[in-house]
Amino acid sequence: KTVRRPTENLPAEGAKQHKKKKEKLSALCKTPPSIVRTRNGRDYRRGNFLGEGGFARCFQMKDASGQIYAAKTVAKASIKNEKTKTKLLSEIKIHKSLKHPNIVNFVDCFEDDVNVYILLEICPNQSLMELLKARKRVSEPEVRFFMVQIVGAVKYLHSRRVIHRDLKLGNIFFDPDMNLKLGDFGLASVLPSTDSRKYTICGTPNYIAPEVLGGKHTGHSFEVDIWAIGIMMYALLVGKPPFQAKDVEVIYERIKKTEYYFPEDKPISPSAKTLIQDLLSLNPLNRPTIDEILNYEWFKGPFPDKTHEISLSETPVSLE
Ligand code: ADP
Repeated sequence: KTVRRPTENLPAEGAKQHKKKKEKLSALCKTPPSIVRTRNGRDYRRGNFLGEGGFARCFQMKDASGQIYAAKTVAKASIKNEKTKTKLLSEIKIHKSLKHPNIVNFVDCFEDDVNVYILLEICPNQSLMELLKARKRVSEPEVRFFMVQIVGAVKYLHSRRVIHRDLKLGNIFFDPDMNLKLGDFGLASVLPSTDSRKYTICGTPNYIAPEVLGGKHTGHSFEVDIWAIGIMMYALLVGKPPFQAKDVEVIYERIKKTEYYFPEDKPISPSAKTLIQDLLSLNPLNRPTIDEILNYEWFKGPFPDKTHEISLSETPVSLE
């Protein structure tokens, strides 16, 4: 079984492979020149390095008017084969078609001799993964607020028959106003009809739904995103994903049996548990649809009216 890009909460084996891949990527992907000129003559000034994933490196870019963007940069040398090219084109096509307040905005796409650049709205405050690392656990009102924004973005995707297939804390970024923005459409797929199925095994180990691991016979659909929302909610409230283990195969065995528990020393409310249990239903048909999630009792609890930058490192005083 091939699983692409195990980047988050890496088990030992995956971490080694990932490092190798990253070294290869760094060798291929030269830092873009300090000024990138597009074919139709627009100039962008390159700024700081923002981060890298399994496929791309990200830099700040400034246009002539001083507006700052993030440029996802993919080395042309790394997209030599047709399959990789098709995947990148699919990511661009899908991302370009989306516009929602909680989805990273796609601005433009261009190339020079060395790289392909995907210009995106800048999210300078990192992702939910870094927030969780710094905070260890996140309070229920904050998670509720995050969940509403995540569900909003995924509702938009599913209504357009797009499955994200790589929902995870590391792909949900904070914009300058600390609103959440869903990004990375590298594994996204548009279903030709609501009842068609996907058969490629993909995702990030801790977030993969049991039906994806179950084999190629039955396929999977929108419910894999609902499962991943359950994983994120659990991880934010408890501090680590529910099926976490050193060995990837152990993670998969636990997922296939939905073998997880709620630790007693990190208590969470009964209504939060109910929602997580439903999101993490083994049978995809027993999970709520994206339109049903916000009707759960748990969402009747208190909300902060906004996320402040201080929340990236500390529990807001009002929620202690
Ligand atoms: P990949 O497809 O290779 O996984 P990602 O889309 O995850 O690439 O981006 C790689 C890294 O670049 C992210 O982990 C993050 O650090 C940074 N990044 C991506 N998009 C943005 C953005 N819009 N604003 C700021 N940084 C970003």
